[in-house]
Amino acid sequence: MKALQFRTVGAPPEVVHVPDPEPGPGQVLLKVTAAGVCHSDFAVMNRPAGGLPFDLPLTLGHEGVGTVAAVGAGVTAVQEGEAVAVYGPWGCGSCAKCAEGKENYCLCAHALGIRSPGLGAPGAIAEYLLVDDPRHLVPLDGLDPVAAVPLTDAGLTPYHAIKRALPKLVPGSTAVVIGAGGLGHVAIQLLRALTPARVIALDVSDEKLRLAREVGAHEAVRSDAGAAGAVRELTGGNGAEAVFDFVGAAPTVTTAGALAAVEADISIVGIGGGALPVGFGRLPHEASVSAPYWGSRGELLEVLALARTGAVSVHTETFPLDEAPLAYERLHAGTINGRAVILPNG
Ligand code: NAD
Ligand code: ZN
Ligand code: ZN
Repeated sequence: MKALQFRTVGAPPEVVHVPDPEPGPGQVLLKVTAAGVCHSDFAVMNRPAGGLPFDLPLTLGHEGVGTVAAVGAGVTAVQEGEAVAVYGPWGCGSCAKCAEGKENYCLCAHALGIRSPGLGAPGAIAEYLLVDDPRHLVPLDGLDPVAAVPLTDAGLTPYHAIKRALPKLVPGSTAVVIGAGGLGHVAIQLLRALTPARVIALDVSDEKLRLAREVGAHEAVRSDAGAAGAVRELTGGNGAEAVFDFVGAAPTVTTAGALAAVEADISIVGIGGGALPVGFGRLPHEASVSAPYWGSRGELLEVLALARTGAVSVHTETFPLDEAPLAYERLHAGTINGRAVILPNG
């Protein structure tokens, strides 16, 4: 089969032929219908040589949906032909966190060498994807595969961060989304669907600011040294009760801290390497800062249920598998509006 692989540190990914995978006992083979392209893959591909926690080559893609093509011995939970989405953060399935469905925070995945697809295990940007256990699968139940596939990360990750902040997002409050890209443009819609908060989006690109308004941001502000002042002005000096930074670089985490209100929740979701010091007097009183990772299986069910109500519409641009390297090039150049989705089988 064809697959998109990260083969050399620092080099672009390549489309190559690899052997067709076969499901062993307990495993499920998916024919991949759609696979999303996440900005995190650049962090994966740019780790210093020798600093990789997995072997190369690696088939990329940690957002996947497909149909069940075959099941291994003992699998009864899914049937051939069923349309499913993949819950990507794979854990051990039995520790205290996994028992809560929080496999994103599995206590022993690292020690057991368990890796997520596209982040160590072979990923979804391929004609077929091997899934280790049917518990990693969630029925699509009528959702369009292309529109749904980004929800498994670009939807689930902001959903998890927003859910934690819901008690702060009361009527009259403000939520700020920094970076209206793949994750951010879904975050804006989730905030509008789940909260009465006023939503302010920050980005460096006019096109992304336009998309932010289109998907529901009340205000769209250029992300520069004046952004925090602009948000304070828009909030009568109070700042924002919740801040979601989908860039996470030094200048954006500084902005996040500077525009936060007292008792604000600041979530640093982007992996841009920035750090926001916490200590008395450093931030408004009782502001809390966290750096969440992905979301739970239960939260993925909730995001998909919300999508079935029509409350979230992901902007997608599709590419055939042969053009997947172009999708990465365009994402890197900042010219994908919404999420790039690869169609490995057509
Ligand atoms: P993306 O490229 O689709 O979106 C990034 C957006 O940020 C773009 O719209 C870009 O114009 C904007 N941007 C860039 N610099 C900016 C600045 N200084 N101020 C404001 N906006 C700026 O990327 P994505 O796939 O949505 O991922 C966003 C981030 O989240 C990445 O760092 C990714 O690695 C990370 N991520 C983290 C998790 C997690 O679990 N913590 C999960 C998925 C992705
Ligand atoms: Zn991701
Ligand atoms: Zn576990």
